[in-house]
Amino acid sequence: MSELETYQITGEYQSGSNVLGLVCFSIVLGITLGKMGDKSRPLQDFFHALSEAMMIITGWVIWLSPLGVFFLVTAKIMEIDSFKELVGRLGLYFMTVLLGLFLHGFGTLSILFILATKKLPCRYIAKMGQVMATAFGTASSSATMPITIGCCDDMGLDPRITRFVIPIGATINMDGTALYEAVAAIFIAQLRKVEMSFGKIIAVSVTATAASIGAAGIPQAGLVTMVMVLDTVNLPAEDVSIILAVDWLLDRFRTTINVVCDALGAIIVTSLSQGDIDKTRAANNERDGRSDAPSHELTEIEKGDH
Ligand code: ASP
Repeated sequence: MSELETYQITGEYQSGSNVLGLVCFSIVLGITLGKMGDKSRPLQDFFHALSEAMMIITGWVIWLSPLGVFFLVTAKIMEIDSFKELVGRLGLYFMTVLLGLFLHGFGTLSILFILATKKLPCRYIAKMGQVMATAFGTASSSATMPITIGCCDDMGLDPRITRFVIPIGATINMDGTALYEAVAAIFIAQLRKVEMSFGKIIAVSVTATAASIGAAGIPQAGLVTMVMVLDTVNLPAEDVSIILAVDWLLDRFRTTINVVCDALGAIIVTSLSQGDIDKTRAANNERDGRSDAPSHELTEIEKGDH
């Protein structure tokens, strides 16, 4: 009989860019440059100029994105073999995930946003059209990241916050994916007539959350980490194929929620750390001998509310 109580933790290399590693290195480099004072100016100026240039290039790409999104989605629609299957067996599952994403986006997320910032999220979400279209078109949080950062900049958020929160969010904050993985696992379990006790549903939800954190910000990455969730209810990994037909489309909706949540997260962090941002700015201005300028972030965010 196999040993059930001993866990073996193993590491594994995956191809792709290590965004969390890059974020960690950037933090260490940033702290070091800060400690070096004036000596680090040339490198700081270099990074500022590089960042400005990237944002200009992103701006050009944004102009082309409606056309790109159109072709990406059309290509996928042309690949569908059976529309009958899409609206039949998988229809209810599809609608359940969509309803869940809708309730999460307009319910849970909005409530959390209002509680944290005391502002309504609709005005901010209305400014995220480009971000949502890109997320929907590319089905990738990582590919949408520059657009999300650009949108946060346009809303007047502190670049130090957006450039920290958005890459982390695009890598580990996947609430849409977590929701979809839990629904998909329960759907497959029901198809396979596996009894779902309350405890099992909780276990599936917790595992789906963990699996979504592990999913990369690329198209259909959630499908890969689904294996972990299926394992919780003793279902074979091959059962993922059941939901394959609609996954390309659901992926676009869940990625949109993932990305909107990243941007809302950046606004919440900005709002919560406004006092600290102002203090740092005042200290920097004092050090550089400049007069204190009014807080850009606060004025821009407040502007959105009137
Ligand atoms: N495509 C999703 C994202 O990039 C991940 C997934 O759910 O497959 O956020």
